[in-house]
Amino acid sequence: MIYDPTADDLKRKVWQGERIDAEEAMRLYRLPLSELGSLADRRRQIAKADQYNGKGDEIVTYILDRNINYTNICNVYCKFCAFYRTEKDLDSYVISHEELDGKIDEMLEVGGSQILLQGGHHPKLNMDWYLDLLTHLEEKYPQVNVHGFSPSEFVHFREVFGLPLQEIIGKFQEAGLGSIPGGGGEILVDKVRKRISPLKAMSDEWLEVMDTAHRLGLNSSATMMFGHVESVEDRIEHLDRIRVQQDRSGGFTAFICWTFQSENTRLKAPPCGANEYLRMLALSRIYLDNIDNAQSSWVTQGLEIGQIALTYGANDLGSIMMEENVVSQAGTVYHMKENDMHRLIHDLGCEPRRRNNWYQLLN
Ligand code: SF4
Repeated sequence: MIYDPTADDLKRKVWQGERIDAEEAMRLYRLPLSELGSLADRRRQIAKADQYNGKGDEIVTYILDRNINYTNICNVYCKFCAFYRTEKDLDSYVISHEELDGKIDEMLEVGGSQILLQGGHHPKLNMDWYLDLLTHLEEKYPQVNVHGFSPSEFVHFREVFGLPLQEIIGKFQEAGLGSIPGGGGEILVDKVRKRISPLKAMSDEWLEVMDTAHRLGLNSSATMMFGHVESVEDRIEHLDRIRVQQDRSGGFTAFICWTFQSENTRLKAPPCGANEYLRMLALSRIYLDNIDNAQSSWVTQGLEIGQIALTYGANDLGSIMMEENVVSQAGTVYHMKENDMHRLIHDLGCEPRRRNNWYQLLN
């Protein structure tokens, strides 16, 4: 790591809350980690200070939801994925309404408010199958937000259904879809996507879905999975594409980054450690000056780094996931109960609060 003695002006600029460009981001990336962390923490304070009746800076939020994968059948074969199956695999499945209800009933018993509904890119399910599913959920569980279907799923639907994105997303919205997860973002640089997931939505398509959804009034999250074949410049380009999109359509409620988990996948890369994770989280908080919330990825980093992340720009611990199938099949094993989350947050001198998908406090 090269120390940049001329960085004082840049640090002052970040401290004052000004926008930085890609070249400045690269210089920040080379700062000692603790300095970068302090600057990101300052930007977290600036972003959150006016929220929650002026207490936003002291509150750390989380959501209680359940991750439900409606099918593991997928014909995209991403090299980093250990979750997908083909239709011929004995353990492939498509969820039934009864199974779905059982999972939601369990979630409601412990106070959950949202399902994260995502799946493989199933080659045969038609639009009626999805609309039936959403209508069923809306009728039976109107109190539960359906945070569902990542942009790459919508791009797949466009191919399978042969309809424009706006029409598909509009119909899903009418049937009860509440918001869209930012899954499948990985790195929004096509030369990277062509190496790790050549059959999946490319960068412009991913952003096109978000643009369409935001204009229809649906909020979404934005994500980044890093630590595989990309360069630091690619990561900064990814952040820039997200920031430009947010300036345009304004619907990203949060940014979530995590490191690639390689176990059981065909993509091999040296593990990306806590230093690199915290460095990128901090840089993301500073670069994405138009997204209020940054989540800590304790699921991939563990509880201790997950807690430290709250001093490196994150203001939210994400989900207490009742079920996680995708990252866990690639080797991640971290779990946390609600009282563990409270302990970590209190330990930092902050107040833990449950939230909904729109970052409104619930308790
Ligand atoms: S990451 Fe998603 S799209 Fe890619 S293979 Fe796995 S299930 Fe399919």
